[in-house]
Amino acid sequence: MARVAPRFCFHIVSLFPEAMDAYFSASVLGRARKRGVIAVRYYNPKDFEPNPKKRIDDIPYGGGPGMVLRPEPVLRAVDAALRRIRDRKQSRVWFFSPAGEQFTGQMARATVARARHLVLICGRYEGVDERVRVITRAKRVSVGSYVLSGGELAAMVVADVCARFVPGVLGKSESLEEKRVASPSVYTRPAELVWKRKRYRVPEVLRSGNHAAIDVWRKEAAEKERAKRDKKTNFS
Ligand code: SAM
Repeated sequence: MARVAPRFCFHIVSLFPEAMDAYFSASVLGRARKRGVIAVRYYNPKDFEPNPKKRIDDIPYGGGPGMVLRPEPVLRAVDAALRRIRDRKQSRVWFFSPAGEQFTGQMARATVARARHLVLICGRYEGVDERVRVITRAKRVSVGSYVLSGGELAAMVVADVCARFVPGVLGKSESLEEKRVASPSVYTRPAELVWKRKRYRVPEVLRSGNHAAIDVWRKEAAEKERAKRDKKTNFS
């Protein structure tokens, strides 16, 4: 039987693929990979370093702490990924950096709509030699205003968010989840929880069966949370 190509493929250039694979094998993404809807491929720069010592980092020009990933093994790893992509117009290359453009759901949606391959370059230590970004014409992307120890967490965030926009990744109930009015607070049984002699009740409206009222309640709850968060971000 002919194998159907995945709808979207993540090509991850990283020194630590094993740090990501458990996540990509579990739950929604794991099921989507098994069904062949998405694929995740790893390219370890160490496998592209001919020197038997496999040293892939070196001291930074200009001095300073930490080591920098050498350009050649990373470029060879990116090349190996690009060679597997027939139509390069269908690919995007992102270079993770805390100084990059902030990753958003909108960026994920647009990427999945316009491309079928995403090459993600994960840095470690002090980062990757800047010439890799220049040569590959990669977009510099950040997942938040903090510094991670490596790009692997960023790759997991990006792949997870993007995958949810790939048709066929979310099961029927998960797709419905996406479409319904979401609220930041969710509840399950029991309707009244007794914890350390105190009682905690589920809001009555959620047990009313009145779906219009439930939607209104959820919208208002989401609004309140957004307002609280914005207040904190502006004045903290
Ligand atoms: N001194 C470097 C700098 O300021 O760019 C920090 C390097 S950081 C310890 C190592 C790698 O983690 C980076 O090269 C990048 O790939 C990744 N990384 C760290 N923070 C990130 C963030 N907020 N978003 C995306 N990637 C990040």
